[in-house]
Amino acid sequence: MSKPKGGECVKVVVRCRPMNEKETAQGHQRVVEMNVKRGVVEVNNPKAPQEQPKKFTFDSVYDWNSKQRDLYDETFYELVDSVLQGFNGTIFAYGQTGTGKTHTMQGIKSNREEWGVIPNSFEQIFQHISQSQNQQYLVRASYLEIYQEEIRDLLSKDQTKRLELKERTDTGVYVKDLSSFVTKSVKEIEHVMNVGNNNRSVGATNMNLHSSRSHAIFIVTVECSEEGADGENHIRVGKLNMVDLAGSERQSKTGATGERLKEATKINLSLSTLGNVISALVDGKSTHIPYRDSKLTRLLQDSLGGNARTVMVANIGPASYNYEESMTTLRYANRAKNI
Ligand code: ADP
Ligand code: MG
Repeated sequence: MSKPKGGECVKVVVRCRPMNEKETAQGHQRVVEMNVKRGVVEVNNPKAPQEQPKKFTFDSVYDWNSKQRDLYDETFYELVDSVLQGFNGTIFAYGQTGTGKTHTMQGIKSNREEWGVIPNSFEQIFQHISQSQNQQYLVRASYLEIYQEEIRDLLSKDQTKRLELKERTDTGVYVKDLSSFVTKSVKEIEHVMNVGNNNRSVGATNMNLHSSRSHAIFIVTVECSEEGADGENHIRVGKLNMVDLAGSERQSKTGATGERLKEATKINLSLSTLGNVISALVDGKSTHIPYRDSKLTRLLQDSLGGNARTVMVANIGPASYNYEESMTTLRYANRAKNI
């Protein structure tokens, strides 16, 4: 596999969820139009219907009829494959709370057709391994959360512990004491994910609020050892980071004060740093990539840029009352994409 050049390593797609029952019942207007073939999204301003719609073009766009499986095959499969070849890759779900980030990442477990990226990646990884002949694989899983710039190990017995980011000259940035479990099958890695999902809600008085304010990162490390022509064993390691980001809604509008406002400022900071890092990578000319400005980007430094691949899914809602937030998300995604 060749090294992706410049902006090629970053792909940005937009996904718009269907109108939900409540929105339909309340008679909300859809303000989003999508041309899936051309990768175009158009948004009509409900306050100024005579205006031309705002138009954005992306690598791909997925409308309310899109299938999880198509999104996976077209957008994520190759990235996961590159991880199996020893490269790093990162998948982000970005967007306002309620637009489908968790649906995109996890989906609905009981229905194969509705599996999100994470379970689909498990299947792809273990299928690849079961078909390999001369390689030995070791798959490890970690799961962590960043909340208020603090890192919590979602697989640890002690959920009160906060972990630190450390840096070593040989291996780069890592999370000190982060648990990691060797998994030998889809079932085992799914179990690890379920444990982490359960721990996510521990200590959260309001799970929705908590998940909308924290980043959840599931990390799969795939180590492959193979005997080379020289008769020696060669090891390559690829890392797959799957990130369900905190909600991107503007916190100032929610009237947050005190502790809540402090929390909100940190979320906005880490999302804007992520945007800055990605646009600097896409631009390709920047000499300074501001990885160090947030825990999230520092942690993912070795999986963003260089030989690594990144896909960002920007999720939006279709209804008129989401207009402002949808526009903010589309502008964010537009800045992060390869022009
Ligand atoms: P977020 O994680 O961004 O807050 P969720 O993934 O929880 O949003 O989605 C909010 C609701 O919308 C959930 O009930 C989810 O099942 C539903 N939903 C989101 N995206 C889709 C989609 N593409 N198709 C059908 N339902 C969806
Ligand atoms: Mg969610």
